Amino acid sequence: MKFSEIPYVRPDFAAAKVFYAAAAGRLRAASGFAAAEAVFLEAEEFAAGLETALAVAEIRRDMDTRDPFYAGESAFIDRLRPELREYEQLFEDALLATPFRAEFEAKYGRMMFTGAEISRRAFTGALVAPMQRENALCSEYSRLLASAQIPFEGGACTLSQLTPFKRDPSRERRAAAWAAEDAWYASHAERLDSLYAELVELRGGMGRTLGHAGFIPLGYDLMGRSCYGPGEVARFRAAVLEHVVPAAERACAIAAERLGLRLPIGYADSDVWFAGGNAKPAGSSGQILAAARRFYHELSGETAEFIDFMLDGGYLDVLSRPGKASGGYCTSLPSLGAPFIFANFSGTSGDVDVMTHEAGHAFAAYTARNIVPLACRSPGYEACEVHSIGMEYFAEAWAGAFFGEAADRYRWQHLAAALAFIPYGALVDHFQHECYRRPDMTPARRNALWLELQQAYMPWLKPEAELGYLASGRAWQRQRHIYQYPLYYIDYCLAQAVALQFARLISEEGPAAAWRRYMAYARPGGTRSFLELVALAGLRSPFDPAALEQTAAWVLSRLEASAP
Ligand SMILES: [Zn+2]
Repeated sequence: MKFSEIPYVRPDFAAAKVFYAAAAGRLRAASGFAAAEAVFLEAEEFAAGLETALAVAEIRRDMDTRDPFYAGESAFIDRLRPELREYEQLFEDALLATPFRAEFEAKYGRMMFTGAEISRRAFTGALVAPMQRENALCSEYSRLLASAQIPFEGGACTLSQLTPFKRDPSRERRAAAWAAEDAWYASHAERLDSLYAELVELRGGMGRTLGHAGFIPLGYDLMGRSCYGPGEVARFRAAVLEHVVPAAERACAIAAERLGLRLPIGYADSDVWFAGGNAKPAGSSGQILAAARRFYHELSGETAEFIDFMLDGGYLDVLSRPGKASGGYCTSLPSLGAPFIFANFSGTSGDVDVMTHEAGHAFAAYTARNIVPLACRSPGYEACEVHSIGMEYFAEAWAGAFFGEAADRYRWQHLAAALAFIPYGALVDHFQHECYRRPDMTPARRNALWLELQQAYMPWLKPEAELGYLASGRAWQRQRHIYQYPLYYIDYCLAQAVALQFARLISEEGPAAAWRRYMAYARPGGTRSFLELVALAGLRSPFDPAALEQTAAWVLSRLEASAP
């Protein structure tokens, strides 16, 4: 069925409440596994139908924000959906209490209970009020950043509109863009300090309400982490400092030499890899879509089927047009087994990312579309980023189709940026752990801490004295995860450490052999933990310092051998 032909029926929330309450009762009363399983499967189908209707309403609202019908449906859903949670929880409690757990685990895997248990222990009624306050503070942060109208070259730019100018081939122009951004942030610095101070205090209190010493254990539960804790993450960061930082510094030195500079460099030169500017896609949006179809067709039978399904069924909407919502996401329509990609092409290399990174997420969802239960179709955040970042490396062999003559430069900058990203991500993570560990730090102490940690993780970077805001140690305030998704970020580093192993396999054993391992990783969906998936693909744990050392050395040797 094409996306445009999917019938939309308004969800009946009153009937859904009755359904979940009754299903919870029937599950508790089930006298054998067969009876309990029948109720469970009925609830699965019900949930899939409901989630599909919600996703269709959301996508159609975003495809045309001027359509009053779907705007109304969305408002209706936003109003009534939260009330259903309590009834879904009744059913989840009945499932967690089932005497047939061993039979369920034997048939559907143990992760169906693991996830539910983690989310259960991360919540109690006493957290509702602080969570509402937390939402209000996060919304204020998000509104503040979205409200930016930064004077630049006679016009006004949002923060994202300013981004391409910060990487402009002309040094003067990008320095002006960084200065404009710096001035805007400086005028909001104190509010950004105090917003985070309140969030840290609030989250610490939430952790203590649950019996923890502070926020960190709750933060790990909120991220759904089931196979590692803060100790493993701290050792990973130590290995990043030892093995990745020196390699990344060398890559930055190569790029700086091209710009006629020596390390340390300032922000204005930190995101530019070539004197003539970074690689840009060669063609129109139509050519990017055609290149994507070719890439997925040539990569494997599974990806060929996937891209035809997406393109021919209209399960992606990526072209910008009047009335369309901004931004992008990948969602899914569970009862149809279909992912959906929503994006706005902008003529930058971000457009290629939509067709490699976002489509990597969509491919994994498509591959896992028949897994029961629904909650196990997708693994944790760090594991999902391997689907997407890994797919970026498979696409490198087709970089010519996306980037034309800039293909070699693209491959170099892609690898160098991946290497330099890991220390940055570890820095963001280290900073957050320290903030939650020492909630009594003043804003000034927090900013000083950022500067100290930045010096250790990114020694190649020295903020320009004239960028007063960044030089004051507040660069972390631009990273929205720190405010909105606490302790989420190391996930990208762990995923990169695994995805780079795919990059190495592709180059050493060829795409076909590497692809079999990618499928071994993707096929189980979320029925296995992150580290189990890594092992199933025959890859090494990102927590193994020797594996990280080898990965960093391999990336650096590639960068030194091919200097376009
Ligand atoms: Zn992603």
